[in-house]
Amino acid sequence: MTSAPAGKSRVEARDSSSRLLALTVAVALTALVAAAVGLTLPVALPADDPFGGPARFGFAVALFALAQLARLRFRAAAGTVSITWGEAALIVCLHQVPSGWLPAATLLGVGLAWTAMSLLGDRRPVLEIVRIASSLAAATALAVSVTTALGQPLLATPTPALALAVVAGAVVYLLASAWLGGVSLTLRNGTSLGAVLLAALRGKLLMFVGNVVVGLVVVALVELDARWLLLLPPPLWLLQQTYRHRLRADQERRSWRAFAEATAALNQLDERGVASAAVAGALSLFEAELVDVDVARGDGRWRRYRGDAGGQIVEREVGVPGPDEADDCGLVRTLTVGDTQVGHLRVRFPRSAPPSDRERDAVAAYGDALAAALHDAATHRELRLVTARSSYEAVHDALTGLVNRAAMLSKGDQALRQLAHDHPVALLLLDINQFKEVNDTLGHAAGDQLLRLTANRLGALARSGDLLGRLGGDEFAVLLTSVPVIGDRAAPMAYALRQAREIAERLAAPTEVAGVRMSVEVAVGVVVADAGTADMTELLRRADIAMYQAKEGGGNVAAYDSTRDAASTDQLALLAELREALATDDQLVLVLQPAVDLATGAPTGVEALIRWRHPRRGWLSPHDFIRPVENSEQLGTFTRYVVDKALGVAAQWAREGLDVPISVNLSARSLLDPRLPAEIADALRRHQVPAHRLVLEITETVVMSELEVIDEVLATLRAMGVQLAVDDFGTGFSSLTFLTRIAVDELKVDRSFVIRMADSPEAAAIVRTTVGLAQELGLRVVAEGVETAEQRSALAELGCTAAQGYHFFKPMPADKIGAVLGTLLDEARPHLFPLRAADDAS
Ligand code: C2E
Ligand code: CA
Ligand code: CA
Repeated sequence: MTSAPAGKSRVEARDSSSRLLALTVAVALTALVAAAVGLTLPVALPADDPFGGPARFGFAVALFALAQLARLRFRAAAGTVSITWGEAALIVCLHQVPSGWLPAATLLGVGLAWTAMSLLGDRRPVLEIVRIASSLAAATALAVSVTTALGQPLLATPTPALALAVVAGAVVYLLASAWLGGVSLTLRNGTSLGAVLLAALRGKLLMFVGNVVVGLVVVALVELDARWLLLLPPPLWLLQQTYRHRLRADQERRSWRAFAEATAALNQLDERGVASAAVAGALSLFEAELVDVDVARGDGRWRRYRGDAGGQIVEREVGVPGPDEADDCGLVRTLTVGDTQVGHLRVRFPRSAPPSDRERDAVAAYGDALAAALHDAATHRELRLVTARSSYEAVHDALTGLVNRAAMLSKGDQALRQLAHDHPVALLLLDINQFKEVNDTLGHAAGDQLLRLTANRLGALARSGDLLGRLGGDEFAVLLTSVPVIGDRAAPMAYALRQAREIAERLAAPTEVAGVRMSVEVAVGVVVADAGTADMTELLRRADIAMYQAKEGGGNVAAYDSTRDAASTDQLALLAELREALATDDQLVLVLQPAVDLATGAPTGVEALIRWRHPRRGWLSPHDFIRPVENSEQLGTFTRYVVDKALGVAAQWAREGLDVPISVNLSARSLLDPRLPAEIADALRRHQVPAHRLVLEITETVVMSELEVIDEVLATLRAMGVQLAVDDFGTGFSSLTFLTRIAVDELKVDRSFVIRMADSPEAAAIVRTTVGLAQELGLRVVAEGVETAEQRSALAELGCTAAQGYHFFKPMPADKIGAVLGTLLDEARPHLFPLRAADDAS
């Protein structure tokens, strides 16, 4: 039995080699003693022995030598195990040679055979040959002792009892030789004796049985007729081939398993892990002396991972990868994936013979697995970098490097959670005034410069623990978590306001942006809360309100005021609800208020006024919601909705034969929309209402604005035939010049003049002038908000022809208006007919 070494440390090596020497000496002495004793034992050869003693001894030596020369080898745990024909030789010799001579014959035969094999190429140290020979001699001695204790097989006719004795001897020989071989393997490699023994016995079992059978058959044939032995070589040869095949299959299976394990170990996510596993795997898989794995780095440099039989792996940078050509006892495999070269694998074998084809193939396959693993590791590294970069980008604002809104929210919430429930915190929300102007006039590069500068200044002002971020556009936020807790309830707010003012002041320090000297003015909204009472979203919302208060108030800094907040949150909710209301048909309804001719009582027109039948808030008047609607994107939809409803009502009147125009109030902002005339034309067409039946009420301020788009919208509407009325006339502090610019059909005297008319000569004068002006220009005049009979007669006296107000009708639902108009027209008929008659006459 022999083995090839695997890795172990130097101290261990020295230690175990001295123990191996001791074992060798001990076994050699035992063998020598056994041989000597055996040779001196009395011999029971018959006197007429045709061969004679020396011939029989020589035969035994030759047989034992032959049994070794025809050995087979296989790799077992950490070493190579040789299996021989030893047991067959032993059984035959027990029959043919005096048993006492057998230890000596073994010593000699085995020694000669191994020396010959060593000389013929399988180089072995003398000590190893001595150990092998004496181990087997000792095993023979033990086996012989057991057999002879059970029977005397020498030249005896075989019986079952003798066969049993011989088999017992063979078993002892097997166990003893396996044990001695196992011990020496264990001493050399430090592997466990049990594992080696088990592997060796398992590998040997089949051959052992064959050996025993062959031995017994030979003995039987010799007894029967020695000429039968001539038939023996072919079956022996076959047997040998069977053993070899079986061992090779075993070995193949083992090496595939080892290969699979080694390549599986390459499945790692980092380059170092892969390369180290590759070096270790190649060292053991190919029993290599040296393994280099050179890895190509992305930057054109190479890194070499080198491992030697000692198991150490050294890693270093190399300029150029090693030569592609292998030296005569090594192999180099270039590692590529697709067209990309990822590295080299170099394996150097310990012997001088060139690597076999099998080794070449194995190195190639291993190299390919390694290439894939290295490529995967590199890809994974890239991926990690990209992920890291994008997660930085996900939380940071690219322009200023400050955390962005999302990160501000999450980091801020995290900070809030770490504070005690009642620990005060403050959030400052900053918005740069006139940032848009900088962007528009100096360009975006200047805008960016301004933002970076602001971020830098804020960064310099922030204390450790403060969270500073850019929320987007020109908005920045600072979360102050280090608000002092001492003092009364108002102290934190005072502190936060101080901070806010200081920041605003520092930011205002003049600077130069794109060659223009400027100072960064900011509006700061300040909110203070206990950490446990609000999250970042809520704090930002409040700070936002405060910031707008600061802007509106014209100052730099404003504290959050919860009373103003209630209104604004309500408005936000209202707008969301309005969206729903506009989608349904029954929430927003029109009530209608007729205006009547003061002389005849006939309806001159009907004004449509919006009401919101809110599912939760009840009836809402325009006062409750018109403002936010006007300031929202929903105005367009809202206006279309009202016009559509009003024209629906007008269409109904037309069907009932009522010829009365309907007035619709337009918000100033809807006149900024150039699409308005087309939308109204469309609605008129849909309802088949003639344009002159529609009156649009606009306020004086609109008409004054002198915006071209408004003039165009109004001109187009007029050209379509739609009538225009100026609502709330007299309240616009305007000159009347606009009436020369924009043609209108009606003036509505504001209710405030009607109310004050009786006791205010100025109010009365305005009414009178308006009426005069209207007569001059050929316009209708309607007085609004007439509540009493006195007002009515006063208006009549002043020459006003039409009026509207509670005195006549309160606004009423659409289903009532038809009947009211019908009655009004009927009652007015006596007055109207004479007029018609007069017209006809003329
Ligand atoms: P307005 O155009 O001046 O409408 C007249 C307002 O005076 C109406 O209030 C009407 O109900 C009220 N009124 C009528 N007669 C009397 C009276 O004798 N005494 C008193 N105290 N009030 C009287 P309402 O309906 O609350 O509308 C308020 C304002 O809302 C309207 O003022 C108008 O500017 C606006 N508005 C109403 N409907 C719409 C609409 O559909 N669209 C737009 N954009 N605005 C509308
Ligand atoms: Ca009106
Ligand atoms: Ca009005």
